[in-house]
Amino acid sequence: MQNCSLHLKESVSLDDLRLPSPPAVAIRILEAVKKQDSSAQELSRIICSDPALAVKILQMANSSMYSNRIKVSSIKKAITLMGTNALKNIALSFIIFEGLKKELHQDIDFTFLWRKSVVSAVASEIFSARLGVHSDEIFPGALLQNIGILVMISSQAALYREILEQLKDPAAAVDNMMMGPPAFDHREVGYRILKKWGLPEGICNLVRGPREQASPPHSMTPQGEVLFLANKLASTFCDAKEPEKAGSLLTLLEQRHQIASGEAEDTIESIQDKSLEILSFFDIDAKTMKSPSQILQEANMELGRLNLSYQKLVMELGRAKEDAQVLAERLSRANTHLRQVVYKDSLTGLYNHRYFQEIMDKELNRAIRYQKPISLILFDLDHFKGINDQYGHPAGDRVLSTVSTLMELCVRNCDSLARYGGEEFAVILPETDKEDGLRVGEKIRRSVEKMRVTFGHVTLRVTVSLGLGTWQPGERACSKSELISAADGALYQAKRSGRNRICSA
Ligand code: GH3
Ligand code: MG
Ligand code: MG
Repeated sequence: MQNCSLHLKESVSLDDLRLPSPPAVAIRILEAVKKQDSSAQELSRIICSDPALAVKILQMANSSMYSNRIKVSSIKKAITLMGTNALKNIALSFIIFEGLKKELHQDIDFTFLWRKSVVSAVASEIFSARLGVHSDEIFPGALLQNIGILVMISSQAALYREILEQLKDPAAAVDNMMMGPPAFDHREVGYRILKKWGLPEGICNLVRGPREQASPPHSMTPQGEVLFLANKLASTFCDAKEPEKAGSLLTLLEQRHQIASGEAEDTIESIQDKSLEILSFFDIDAKTMKSPSQILQEANMELGRLNLSYQKLVMELGRAKEDAQVLAERLSRANTHLRQVVYKDSLTGLYNHRYFQEIMDKELNRAIRYQKPISLILFDLDHFKGINDQYGHPAGDRVLSTVSTLMELCVRNCDSLARYGGEEFAVILPETDKEDGLRVGEKIRRSVEKMRVTFGHVTLRVTVSLGLGTWQPGERACSKSELISAADGALYQAKRSGRNRICSA
């Protein structure tokens, strides 16, 4: 919606508004109906004393709104037909409506607003009947709902004209005028006026109630719900610039009120017919109103557009889901890779030295806490430098990785293998005492001894020297470095005693 920077609320307070006084006939009606017994007679007498009003009431009673086969020729008959209360409310709203039409600034053209109020009142009546909401107040409430706007704009006519000059469109100018800080609202103004005049509470509340919103609020009275629908329809008929309302109206009728599109189309047509009739009673020009077929066309276009964007959304969601899956897989691969880089040695695939230190810490602490033995084997390839020197570094690498693969076959799943340094390895053996540790070490030694590594046309052989360190329950709690140096000492011992053997600390 277009707008300009001028708003009513910034320049005026609620107290600045000059509230109009009630038309004299309205006061008489209100007083008459307070007297319980004589109200029907009194009402009839007062209405008849105002010929213009009486004509309108009879027109109304004979209109297609009330679809009578018998012609209603007197106010008394109209009262019998419509009920005292309903007729009183209609009469009041007619008087106020007409009175304001005359009293307000004549050089401001409010036709579009009057038109919208009448259409909304007619639509309210028809939706009430369709939805089984029985109310004598909804038609008058809908008819009078914009009186706050009328009064506010009339009392600030110069500002309104300035805004209209900029925006050119009266509906946009009114909307713009009502914007700004929510210090007060035209509904509140309308409510106060009607309340002060003594109109029935139900009508006042409808005038104050929630209205033009994109979707209905969750908790609304049945009357509020009807007025909400009626206003949406009135905007659709009367606001040239809001074709999108038509689509959402049909959706609302179908989804919230189970009125299928065929019936909705009939209802819209009937509301237009009846509105034209009532507008003519009030001499309100109807020519800028859209035809039902135009509205339905707009609605279908809007629904088509919504449906398209829905399909697009579904497609985009599907695509986003696929993207998310691809991303998750990539992330998982990246994480695995990261773990490899952080924890593993690239040549052998065993844990690296840093991670060995972490596991060692954890396993030793656990062993001491639960008083279970733990063993650590450190072993080193014998005369490995010779292999590198004789066959080259790649040959040495091949030996290192073959030894690693072999070791994996010699230990349990719960044991941890690590490359401790260049050609030195570590095996952490939880819940393993010295005897079992020696057995595992011996198994490794023998396996390596038997191992043959082919590299090109040469076959390589290697042996290892191993040192075993063990912590057993009942011993003094030892530190990680104590256990490591015990194993290292034993390894040194194994080297010194001739290599290709295991020694324990
Ligand atoms: P000892 O029996 O006393 O352990 O003799 P050694 O020759 O194995 O001992 P030394 O410490 O003198 O040599 C170790 C060799 O291991 C030297 C180094 O080049 C080699 N080495 C260390 N890391 C790697 C590696 O990643 N790849 C290869 N191919 N060789 C390595
Ligand atoms: Mg060595
Ligand atoms: Mg070494």
